[in-house]
Amino acid sequence: MKKQDIEAIALLLATPKKIAIIPHRSPDGDAMGSTLALYHFLSKFNHDAVVIAPNEFPDFLAWLPGSETVKIFEKDKDNCTSILNEADIVFTLDFNAFHRVGHEMEKTLASLDTTFIMIDHHQKPDDYAAYMYSDTAFGSTCEMIYNFIEFLGKKEFLDKTIGTCIYTGILTDSGSFRFPGTNGNTHRIVAHLIDLGVENTKIPNLLFENSSYQRLQLLGRALQNMKVFNQYQTSYTTLTQKELDTFEYVKGDTEGIVNYGLSIKGIVFTAIFIENKDEKIIKISFRSQGDFDANQFARDHFNGGGHKNAAGGRSEVSMEETIQKFEKLVANLTI
Ligand code: 5GP
Ligand code: MN
Repeated sequence: MKKQDIEAIALLLATPKKIAIIPHRSPDGDAMGSTLALYHFLSKFNHDAVVIAPNEFPDFLAWLPGSETVKIFEKDKDNCTSILNEADIVFTLDFNAFHRVGHEMEKTLASLDTTFIMIDHHQKPDDYAAYMYSDTAFGSTCEMIYNFIEFLGKKEFLDKTIGTCIYTGILTDSGSFRFPGTNGNTHRIVAHLIDLGVENTKIPNLLFENSSYQRLQLLGRALQNMKVFNQYQTSYTTLTQKELDTFEYVKGDTEGIVNYGLSIKGIVFTAIFIENKDEKIIKISFRSQGDFDANQFARDHFNGGGHKNAAGGRSEVSMEETIQKFEKLVANLTI
């Protein structure tokens, strides 16, 4: 981050402010971890801070400290809109463009006359923020929040609560310290967080070992539905709305399923297609290994984006048509 930007932000934060902190729509561990870490940090300095999530966060993140204070824009539009209208500062964390909060909240954000601060690790950030800490080299926004606190010269204010939120985002976005972007600094930060009391062996349990039986059955179905194209080093799977209903899907249940497609020997590109009847779309997650750019693929063909090795997108035609399009594209890929 530029020195003069840090100084300007430090000056802004020198007196109590009204601050809204926003994660992307369908927030994951990094989005919730980073926004809540910043919420706890800012609250220490008497700022009137609040996290406003565009829509509900999954149950497996509900144990995060402070999650009970999070306002949900979709459920509480009037209140959230007036908080946003009155905010002196709006932090947007873990996303790079207003459209990532969904259509209605996007319009509200675009209409605000406020100081935006973006902290994010996605490619191609939009140009709406007065101050930007945007760097794709980081594996998580949470790691950047740790740095941001350090830039402000306030490292001594880090504590177990803030650390727990930061640890959660680093852990989930790095695939438990496995994905590219995980480096010595990541581990040094984590070591410091553990020294602060963060329960590093308990948190994975809360995040990953809290499934319902139905969720496991849904995973089983997704694994059965998997198609493998060894000649294209590609696999994919699908879940229809009917299958989601059969296994009593709740938000968060499909998290991480896409990664199984990469666990097959020789596969470097995979996708999961999940039907959403309410939104009339097929939501897609892409994962790749090595040089294949899933972000570019998602941008070029499925109205999406993300990172090189983990991206997402959407399709507005039927599951059958979407799969046909994907198979055709894959047959012409040079991986
Ligand atoms: P996931 O597949 O876990 O939902 O998302 C993987 C990555 O791609 C995340 O960094 C996420 O923010 C990004 N992503 C997911 N869906 C979309 C999308 O529809 N548009 C864009 N631009 N990014 C997405
Ligand atoms: Mn992230």
